[in-house]
Amino acid sequence: MSIIHELSPEVVSLIAAGEIIERPAFALKELIENAIDANAGQISISLTHNGLTQMIVEDDGKGMDSQDVLLSWKLHTTSKLHTPDELHSIHTQGFRGEALASIAATGTLTIQSRQKNSQLGYEIVIRKQKRVKEGKIGMPVGTRMIVENLFESLPARQKFLQSPQTELRHCIEVVTTYAISHPGIRFILKHNGHILIQVSTTTDPLERLTALFDQDLVDSLLPVNYQESYVTLQGFISHPSKATSSSSKQFIFLNHRPIKDSLISGSIKEAMRELLPQNKNSVFFLNFTIPNELIDVNVHPRKEIVRFASPTTVYSAVQSAIQEMLLSNSLTFQSTLQNNQTTAKITDSLAGAFLKEIKKNGEIELFKKIVCTQIHNTYIVFETKTGFMFVDQHAAQERTLYEQLKIKFQAEQKKNKTVQIRAALSLSKAEILLVDEYEAVFKTFGFTFEKKKNKNKEKMYLISVPALFSDRDPIPIFEEILSDVENGIAIRTTDTLTHQMLTYIACHQSVKAGDVLTQKQMQGIVHELQKVPNKFTCPHGRPTMIEIPLHDLHKRFQRI
Ligand code: ADP
Ligand code: MG
Repeated sequence: MSIIHELSPEVVSLIAAGEIIERPAFALKELIENAIDANAGQISISLTHNGLTQMIVEDDGKGMDSQDVLLSWKLHTTSKLHTPDELHSIHTQGFRGEALASIAATGTLTIQSRQKNSQLGYEIVIRKQKRVKEGKIGMPVGTRMIVENLFESLPARQKFLQSPQTELRHCIEVVTTYAISHPGIRFILKHNGHILIQVSTTTDPLERLTALFDQDLVDSLLPVNYQESYVTLQGFISHPSKATSSSSKQFIFLNHRPIKDSLISGSIKEAMRELLPQNKNSVFFLNFTIPNELIDVNVHPRKEIVRFASPTTVYSAVQSAIQEMLLSNSLTFQSTLQNNQTTAKITDSLAGAFLKEIKKNGEIELFKKIVCTQIHNTYIVFETKTGFMFVDQHAAQERTLYEQLKIKFQAEQKKNKTVQIRAALSLSKAEILLVDEYEAVFKTFGFTFEKKKNKNKEKMYLISVPALFSDRDPIPIFEEILSDVENGIAIRTTDTLTHQMLTYIACHQSVKAGDVLTQKQMQGIVHELQKVPNKFTCPHGRPTMIEIPLHDLHKRFQRI
């Protein structure tokens, strides 16, 4: 006897709902998207008890007629998609026809809608997936969606919810996100009767950001406008001095649709790497415009994740866009500090809370002749004109070597200088494929390969390496780079790979914490560091030197 049967529509809706409506904010997201798709000029949201008891989303969009109201909440009913081909040219926020069905499956959904050419609107109420009320009502043009007791039919889900504040925070984040991407729409968000967000319509994205965020943050934003191949990138990124510990103010939009893409955020972090203190994140609002046929939006039930036809084109555009933005704002680590009138704080956990960097004018004045002391075989300490300085011996030398190697490498690369070798690599099949994939990128460095087949097995040889490797074993460095590429750590552009390769060499050649240094060596490390760019951080982003101002000492000894 057959044991397979078709699931009832109710169960199918509940399963879809389980994926889509994990928390109140997700229901809210779907309702806002529908209002946007209906060309709303205003969206008003009212939540009671973080959206769990009641969520009302009202818009002044095009509305629905009674027939559509009756159809709209059924699973896989949509007005936004007709043929399979259209899946590749979606311009609306929604298209899966699952949202209203999912909401109706978990709680009580009231839909009220009126079109411009009707005198009256139409209302239906659905509870436990059954229509319990319907009829004409008086209402303004547009749609009002009322969701009550969101998890009535999925009580288990309630247990997985986080604290009420967290759930509310997620709802606020959703409204903020769409308010950023749609400055032309007026948004109002109320919670238990109190207004939390109210923004009026504007054509200026900065004006919208000012309405949503701290003025100080908005003042620090630097514009990004970039085009490479078919990717256009527009938006803002915060000045490095306004980097934050959390990554919650990072907004990525693709064709004005919010998405999450850890590799894009990773690329941005990577591009800002040398300017950001460790564990700090940039704030950014970036919209990518990419032709619809080169993206796939149909890979995630909540449409948060998309697939790119050529991810490397996108990631390389991100890196170049940020580099161009940094250059046009003459941003190097030093000038970051110079431009910033306030104190740049890079706290060193090891040195304790009171050790703060104080470079109000970017430069710390050193005496011509310094006498160094080494403490704990890790830090070099000496007197400066304004206080005294701690230098991390490893980080400092690493930065110096890195910058010296970079100049050498770039010069050699220009002349295509390589060294011929023949060294066998022990690579898996997957790694060989990876080398094949990135062969062109590796070649720009001077890495070339040869494959030999031996008893059905492929063996790969390194045939040439950058001249920089003439007196170093290239194999461990190459293997390290490859494993980073494999693990997706490295954003696969020439620039990042150069950075990794040079960092690796610099790191391995530098003195370590624990190495005992002579006076001459210490002075050498300090003086060499002063000559290179980006001297305040090591290539991994850690501080190289921290000055304690005399002023702070005087204060602690209560002299002032
Ligand atoms: P989708 O948005 O994927 O089409 P939904 O379940 O969210 O699926 O909505 C189903 C349909 O109901 C939409 O295609 C749209 O035609 C209609 N609809 C939903 N919300 C609104 C609204 N606020 N204004 C006008 N029409 C709406
Ligand atoms: Mg929808």
